[in-house]
Amino acid sequence: MSRLVVLGGAESGVGAAVLAKVKGFDVFLSDNGKIKEEYADMLRKWDVPFEEGGHSESRVLSADEVVKSPGIPDSAPLVRKLTAAGTPVVSEIEFASRYDNAKKICITGSNGKTTTTSLIYYLLQNAGLNVGLGGNIGKSYALQVATEKHDYYVLEISSFQLDGCYSFRPDIAIITNITPDHLDRYDYKLENYVRSKFRITQNLRPEDCFIFDSDDAITISHLDKIVLKAKSLPFSQKQELSQGAFLRDEQIVVRYEDDESSIYLKELALGGRHNVYNSMAAALAAKAAGIDNSVIRESLRSFKAIEHRLEPVLSVGGVLYINDSKATNVDSAWYALDAQTRPVVWIVGGTDKGNDYSQLSELVREKVKAIICLGVDNSKIHKAFEPIVGAERMVDALSAEQAVKESARLAEDGDVVLLSPCCASFDLFKNYEDRGEQFKEAVRRL
Ligand code: ADP
Repeated sequence: MSRLVVLGGAESGVGAAVLAKVKGFDVFLSDNGKIKEEYADMLRKWDVPFEEGGHSESRVLSADEVVKSPGIPDSAPLVRKLTAAGTPVVSEIEFASRYDNAKKICITGSNGKTTTTSLIYYLLQNAGLNVGLGGNIGKSYALQVATEKHDYYVLEISSFQLDGCYSFRPDIAIITNITPDHLDRYDYKLENYVRSKFRITQNLRPEDCFIFDSDDAITISHLDKIVLKAKSLPFSQKQELSQGAFLRDEQIVVRYEDDESSIYLKELALGGRHNVYNSMAAALAAKAAGIDNSVIRESLRSFKAIEHRLEPVLSVGGVLYINDSKATNVDSAWYALDAQTRPVVWIVGGTDKGNDYSQLSELVREKVKAIICLGVDNSKIHKAFEPIVGAERMVDALSAEQAVKESARLAEDGDVVLLSPCCASFDLFKNYEDRGEQFKEAVRRL
């Protein structure tokens, strides 16, 4: 019996272990931290042996193949030993795809993955297809392959998951955009990160589709260097395209093979220029999957904003509070500010990832009347924006509640209070969800 070891006992690892069990492997799961109770229960239920709080090295090294969770870097000592010994180390996505014949629409990119993935899932459901949603969202892909049967999957895939993909092949692959992020895992080389994203295209065949942002210079320059076998479906807000999606007269126009359809920007459920890109990508994926124009249009009109992504919370005294806690890098905050049509009191800050705030100067000058810095160390933010908004209109806060109270004090009827932090949340919160929840709770208490 083939021996499979799974490293990491969270959503993807446990899913892979269950699938391995179902497929008759001799499987063992090892996690050097604590495994959450719900996952430990699941492993017991499926009779998968496991350990936590450390790895039994000899047992791990005796594996024929290893499935590694995306959170564990390739530089981890045990992973290095496995690689040196020639043991294949793959991702849960790679492993699960061996047992799945469904059509797969897979989304990667620096920003907009979850939004685009959710939008496509919604479109396919509205078209009446039997579709599973997975990858970085919700239930793992492997668990669904083990226990459910779908004709389609819509999978959000991070670059860390793609790093462990070799024969995995989507039918429709999407790169939403590429901006520098997570460079700490890529030797601080943008090229490595870009190559990792492009692994999503590596096995595409001529009958498959590749959907990408042709306004994105990084994507385009890498495309020039590779041989892409798939059908190209670009989207752009800058130029008309013979195939793909573009803007004309305040409408998104979708050209796919001989068909042309359109939808007015003002009809789109999701606001902001970034969501025009996401809607274009989703519409193209839906077209490539053979979905009717009427279903596509209706779905783009009726989709509901997802939590923590430009999510309107409440209006209090004529001030609208917006939760964009998921904006953890400069690019996503840029789009959040760009989308605002009213004066903004901006809540920003957290764990800085080497941000270059100068990209935001112009938008801040144009739209932001006051800034609340929500972080332990706000010095970089003060330095970047004091010359623009004035020191007297910048306030520090150490909790979501304090930030919301200060914003309420500074905002007037007709303003927007926007939490779009540009930074990770780990200095003051458990994660971005916790930051968003605490923000919403504080707004409700106003
Ligand atoms: P991801 O899953 O890639 O992190 P999300 O859809 O969760 O992306 O959005 C993350 C953040 O980026 C949110 O603040 C959102 O408003 C913003 N965003 C969404 N789509 C885009 C896009 N196409 N370009 C830039 N920013 C985006």
